[in-house]
Formats: sequence, C-alpha cells, structure tokens
Amino acid sequence: MKQRLSVRAAAFCTAALLASGALAGCSFRPVGAGRSDVTSAPETKDVGGTPDTTGRPETSRPNTTASDTTESDTTADVGTTASSRAPETAAPTPAPTEARLSLVAVGDNIIHEAVFLDAKARAADGASYDFLPMYNGVADRIAAADVAFVNHETPMAGAEYGISGYPTFNAPREAGQALADVGFDVVNLANNHILDKRVAGARATVEFVRTLPVLEIGVYLDRDDARQMRITEKNGIRIAWLSYCYGSNNSYNPATDDIIMPLLDQADTIRSEVRAARAAADFVIVSAHWGLDDVAAVTDDQKRMASVIAEAGADVILGHHPHILQPVEWHENANGSRTLIVFSLGNFLSTQYYSRNMIGGMISFDLVKGTDGTCAVESPVLYPTVTHYSMQRDGLQIYMLEDYTETLAARHGCLAHSADFSLAWIYRHVRSIVKEEFLPAYFE
Ligand SMILES: [Zn+2]
Repeated sequence: MKQRLSVRAAAFCTAALLASGALAGCSFRPVGAGRSDVTSAPETKDVGGTPDTTGRPETSRPNTTASDTTESDTTADVGTTASSRAPETAAPTPAPTEARLSLVAVGDNIIHEAVFLDAKARAADGASYDFLPMYNGVADRIAAADVAFVNHETPMAGAEYGISGYPTFNAPREAGQALADVGFDVVNLANNHILDKRVAGARATVEFVRTLPVLEIGVYLDRDDARQMRITEKNGIRIAWLSYCYGSNNSYNPATDDIIMPLLDQADTIRSEVRAARAAADFVIVSAHWGLDDVAAVTDDQKRMASVIAEAGADVILGHHPHILQPVEWHENANGSRTLIVFSLGNFLSTQYYSRNMIGGMISFDLVKGTDGTCAVESPVLYPTVTHYSMQRDGLQIYMLEDYTETLAARHGCLAHSADFSLAWIYRHVRSIVKEEFLPAYFE
C-alpha cells in the first residue's frame, strides 16, 4: 500500500524575488503560514515489485541537518498513517535502522490535441476526457514508488479558456486528475508552456492543481507563496523540492508579472536557495526545465547550471524539456559528495512526430538515511518508456520498454515521419545517450 505523503512548507526566497530586488539579502527563516491546501497522495494499491537495482552505484553525504531543521512547524503533517497506540508491554529498544525511500521521476506530460481527442473518445459519456488508461502500462511502477514526480507541460486553466493543443496549450483538467489518480505525488509546472494562456491561465492552473492530492512545484501565486519551501516527508525522510525554468514561450517578467516562476539565469540566488533547502531537509531535489528541443547533447548552459546546483548541495537534478532523452551522470562535487543528474527525462506522454520523441525515461533511485547520519542516493536506474500511438494518432499508451513489442513498434504512428521504429532502433537510441551503468539489467 502506498502510504500518504507528508507535505510541509517553510520560508524560502525565490530567484524571481531576488531578481526583482524585493527580497535581496533574504535568508532562510521560518514563517507562520503554511500550505494547508496541499494534502496527501492518494491511496493506491501496491501492485508492483521493487525494480531490480542491485549492483548500481551510490553516493553519500554527511547528514548534518536532520535534527537542525527550521521549517515552519505550523504546517500540518498529513502523512502519518502509522498507529499511534502505545504498546501494551514494554519492548526492548530496537536497534536503529536506516530510513529508505524509493522515488521515480518522468519527464514531459504533454497534452497535444490528439492526446485529448483520444481521451475524449475513451470517455464513457462522450463529452468528458478519460486519460487514465493511457498510463496503464506504467501505473504499477508509479504506485509502487514511495514518491513519484512528473513534469506536466501544459496549462489546465479550465474549459472557459478553451481546450487547445500546440502551440498554445490548455489541457482538460481531467489530465491533472489522471496524474493524481495514477499516483504521482509531485507535479512540476515550471515550464515554457505554463503561460500559454497568460498569467491568468497559469494562476488558474496552479489553483486547480492544488486541489489535487499532489504537491505542485515551480509556479507560485505571489511572493509569500514563493517563499514557502516545498518539503515532502515519507518514511522519515524529508525532501526539499526546488524548481527552475529557462523561460517562457510568452513574455514573462518576474519583477512585474503577477505570478512567480523561478528562472535558471539567477545563479547566485539558486545557490542560496539550494543551501537553504539543504539546511531544511535530508535531501534536496531540483527540477530543471532546460536544454534544446530534440538535441540529445547537453548544452553548455545546462552544464554550467548543473554545476551551480550540484555544488550548492543538491542531491538530484531532474531535467526535462528537450523532448528527447539526455545523459545521466554523477557530478563529483568539490566537497567530496556527488549529485545525480538526469539532464533530460524525455517525453512521457505526447503525440510528437518522431521516433526520438517517443522514448522517455523513468529514473528510479532510493534515498537512504543511514544510522550513522549519512544520506545517500542509491541504485539509480533509468528505465526507458515508450509512448505509443497508432497511424491514426490514437490509442495512446505508455509502455515500459521491456513490455513493448516488435508488433507494436511496426504499427507506431511515428513511422509516418521516421524511417525506423523497431526494438533494435530503440535499444540503439537509448544506448547512444545513456551509459550502461544507469540502464536496467536487461540491457546487458
Ligand atoms: Zn518545455
């Protein structure tokens, strides 16, 4: 059974605020107002086993913060599901044990027109949208993970804004409900499309996502909201979540626009924010919307910002936006720690045209807090996913690569635009980007 996730908030200064000068010099400090609208992840049945991740590399750093947190303690801990009854008889004090948490993350969930039309065709009433079956092939992995992350690329501002696909998206809200229903816990909204329906649409999207049992990160309603650090707690492990984006397809001025989306071009601010997050939680995970469309090579800007984020103390960087996989690596930090970087997770759900856009990655790893006070990222494995659609651009379905077949590949609609789409091509493509040490055992 997937237990409920605890979400806390703490004071925080965003890149945008510091860029605007409004909070220059602000340091991490607790505030009284916490997020009460972010509640728990849904109960989902535990239908999947733990992926085989033995023999994979790991990293560790001293945990100096677990008992020195300064987050607001006025926020509700909504995740406690363990029994609070005292034992009837005194038991011997158990030996301390390590705390462990499993996490999976996927990339861009893009609701193109063909995606929402397919969802509409699947809805029993013929009027609403049923996205949930599209995730059947990956739902067990998401449900089995203690924490699951996704980048949702498109606004969900409401029907009054008009439901639309590329280039100015507005997805039906059933798409967001499906993410919650399938078991995602953390939904990133900081991406170049969130302002497709302008500031009002972004605000409406954030407000909607916050009605779901997920933690929304990356777009904040005002400065006070942006200052609340996002922290999840599960299995006794606290994760601080930060999120940055390279920019927007629509004009966005963080100093004047009535919404906050922290940007990647504020290195000094990002450093201070990562350090503040480091002091507030056991682990820091940073979502980064960056890179170039359809380019597997990591750009100099990505490398530079990855180094800034890693050296400041992030444990994991989850990259997305290029719509194609990019490399996974350990960044060796000057202080001896190392940071797991997934430069791009690729697409998760979309009807983009080309074979390369159909291959995404579900990164899986464990966060471990040892009895000796060390915190480590262990066993990272990138499990490739395949987004399938037919020649008619319907029948959307995401598969784990190991479940995908030659027969399905031969019928994939991307063959209208791509010369080859076969299991051999997929394996070659993945191997050309991701080092074998991060790939599942079935690649050996
Ligand atoms: Zn993007």
